[in-house]
Amino acid sequence: MALRGLDSTHAIDVASLPVESDALRKIPQALALRYDILSVSSDGNQLTVIVPDPDESVTLEKIRFSTGMHVRALGAPREAIRARLNSIYDQPVRLRNSGVVLSESPAVTLANDIMRDAVRRNASDVHIEPCASGGRVRQRIDGILHCSKAIEEEVYAQVVSRLKLLAGMDIADKRQPQDGRYNIEIAGRSFDARVSSVPTIAGEKLAIRLLADHASSPQLDQLNIPAKHYDDFKRVCAGPHGFIVAAGPTGSGKTTTLYAALGQRDATSENLCSVEDPIEVRMPGVAQVQVNVRAGLTFASALRAFLRQDPNVIMVGEMRDHETAAVAASASLSGQLVLTTLHSNDAPGAIERLKELGVKRRTLAVGLTAVVAQRLVRALCKRCRKARSIAKDGAREFRITEGATVFTSVGCGDCAGTGYAGRLALFEILFVDDVIREAISSDAPRLSLSTISKQRGFEPMLQHGLQRVMAGETTLEELRRVLTIGYA
Ligand SMILES: [Zn+2]
Repeated sequence: MALRGLDSTHAIDVASLPVESDALRKIPQALALRYDILSVSSDGNQLTVIVPDPDESVTLEKIRFSTGMHVRALGAPREAIRARLNSIYDQPVRLRNSGVVLSESPAVTLANDIMRDAVRRNASDVHIEPCASGGRVRQRIDGILHCSKAIEEEVYAQVVSRLKLLAGMDIADKRQPQDGRYNIEIAGRSFDARVSSVPTIAGEKLAIRLLADHASSPQLDQLNIPAKHYDDFKRVCAGPHGFIVAAGPTGSGKTTTLYAALGQRDATSENLCSVEDPIEVRMPGVAQVQVNVRAGLTFASALRAFLRQDPNVIMVGEMRDHETAAVAASASLSGQLVLTTLHSNDAPGAIERLKELGVKRRTLAVGLTAVVAQRLVRALCKRCRKARSIAKDGAREFRITEGATVFTSVGCGDCAGTGYAGRLALFEILFVDDVIREAISSDAPRLSLSTISKQRGFEPMLQHGLQRVMAGETTLEELRRVLTIGYA
């Protein structure tokens, strides 16, 4: 808009010209730097660019070809355009012989190194945050944040700008929280990087989630579901209708469980749909919808749309509002299998949570088939773990026999000194039978539902956790970290 007054008869002050980041992204960086093209604004299908020679047709044709847009070209001195491009892309350009050689600035190199290192170490998230000495980088590996790098004060803001630019965010705006995404290819693997920025009192903080494009759908038999529950769980996942809830905090592997359940279904003979935010795994044969609140596509609206399309199985990525919960629960009564996740600490608590969300007791009692609650704990590194016998305090805390053999983490080269390698899931599964159904519809208080469940064979997650500790797969420290230990 600021360019409306611009025309070829006025000299353009390239250095202070407002540049729309949307317009900037329309032209690949390499093309812009090769031909000195500063893309400044777009309006509908018209792109306004500043170039050294607005009558030179080769450059304009390249822009048209690359963007598919009509091009409005204005002229300005090459040096001025190049200086502005360098400040935007943060890349000094050197001309050598006929071609252009790009040498990356320290900030660009650092930003690349940060992302490459995160991928190499299998981090799920990268945090880039300001601190007293400049900035620091932390990586979330197996659910735990580790410091990986310090960033010098002089380049911190540039590193942040570089990543924001890649993710299509407005680099000029440092006061509003923003989010964006970009695709990143490292060592032949492709990732979706979801970047969010938050303005803190010390500067901008970025959090980047890495989702692998190649993530394959998980298999039910690889989830580490307790053997005594496996067949029953497989049976309810194969059922013609019902309502299966996976409960747990963020990052507890709930969605993985639902993907595995969905993966059991026959994508040829059945209509399988899911609405998610974000889509973490592409499931072949499943109609997956990404929530887009700005476009009015919510969990509830996508769910309603799916119900008009004769579904067999519907996966609802998360249930957090009354409307979604009510529609999903009633769908389970009309011949569909509904799979969903819920934030709740344990399986009996999930039933209470569904009631709080306004699902009618009777609907729940009839529709609900099973609730799975789960957590992820770190798996002990098998190379360096060390056996020890449990002391009195630990034995009392966990109600296990004093002197029993458990394993403790040590740390070696294989596990980067952490003592752990990978993660495993702990489960508790509440299967709704006639007795529990009656307890739900009579609105029994929480304690009695939990007590009744135990009488019906329900085992709290701690039991599964202790089995894994005794098998040397994880530690009591990990159980303490993810579970609230304490017996009523
Ligand atoms: Zn180790």
